[in-house]
Amino acid sequence: MIAILGDDVISVVADIERKKNITKAELQYLLEGNEGELLGQRAAAVRQEIYGQAVFIRGLIEFTNYCKNNCYYCGIRRGNKLAERYRLTEEEILACCQEGYRLGFRTFVLQGGEDEYFTDARMCHIIRSIKEQYPDCAITLSIGEKSAESYQQYFQAGADRYLLRHETANEAHYSQLHPAEMSLQHRKKCLYTLRDIGYQVGAGFMVGSPGQTVDTLYEDLQFLRELKPHMVGIGPFIPQHATPFGQKPGGTVERTVTLLSIIRLLLPHVLLPATTALGTIDPVGREKGLRAGANVVMPNLSPKSVRKKYALYDAKICTGEEAAECINCLKNRVESIGYTVVCDRGDYRP
Ligand code: SAH
Repeated sequence: MIAILGDDVISVVADIERKKNITKAELQYLLEGNEGELLGQRAAAVRQEIYGQAVFIRGLIEFTNYCKNNCYYCGIRRGNKLAERYRLTEEEILACCQEGYRLGFRTFVLQGGEDEYFTDARMCHIIRSIKEQYPDCAITLSIGEKSAESYQQYFQAGADRYLLRHETANEAHYSQLHPAEMSLQHRKKCLYTLRDIGYQVGAGFMVGSPGQTVDTLYEDLQFLRELKPHMVGIGPFIPQHATPFGQKPGGTVERTVTLLSIIRLLLPHVLLPATTALGTIDPVGREKGLRAGANVVMPNLSPKSVRKKYALYDAKICTGEEAAECINCLKNRVESIGYTVVCDRGDYRP
């Protein structure tokens, strides 16, 4: 690794901002905690130029925790026999939207495991019903890897956006995180297909996942620069006790926040959530993320009865409150640090 000699944090950050690129040495330097407050301040300034003080909210509806995949890190992996499985009915999903709409949400995120019960026909029916009742709302899907035909059908039914974290852009690392039947190549292909269909797409990764290094993170950032997604979801890896990674160390707040800032500088217009996982490892983690360049939060709209069952990781926050309490708490938090929650679709600003 080349040391950064005679250089200081001001010129490193300015260099990244100007080139909208980062060298491995610069990444290493920033990840070692050399940035002080400057990186976060620059990222917040860049975000301010494009999105002002606005924080966009997305109502997250975790509609199924059945999953055919067996990702080593994830609590709803099929091999987790301890997971109590559930799926919401279309009526229950619509009830979440109704409550969400009342509370001011204009984006609904339907997230779940890869659950074959939700065939394309069922998904399209749900998407159409939501769009019919709430034509002014955006629908984001986060339901994993599907065929191009399926993605096309959901898009035609009215889905606007799709979140599919690439998880890691390094092949060897990908195979440390996933069983052999899954591949990075296929995941990437899905992302390009989604983008070509016309979705606003979101990629991303966990910070501190087992096997992650400065080199793999560097590849993640270069992949993001190449894909140019509209959204990037990153949050700390948090071990889930009943998974193969249950005893592994989790990611840190500092590293997550540093990476949020770097991503803001590389992709100034990106929609960047301060994630629930970040709020889980630090009581003011989401606030820290927002101050360092993030501009989206995704409160939970799932029925209280299922919240605890959608346990991707341990000790997840906001599993005990009603949606209304959650959003009020979040509004207060966002306002306490000088930002404003806006109640519109919160689209990407090119
Ligand atoms: N089945 C969908 C949704 C997955 S859950 C899909 O494949 O995209 C959404 C995200 O949660 C995952 O992409 C992963 O990055 C994150 N996640 C899963 N397990 C986690 C853990 N233990 N700690 C932190 N984040 C986790």
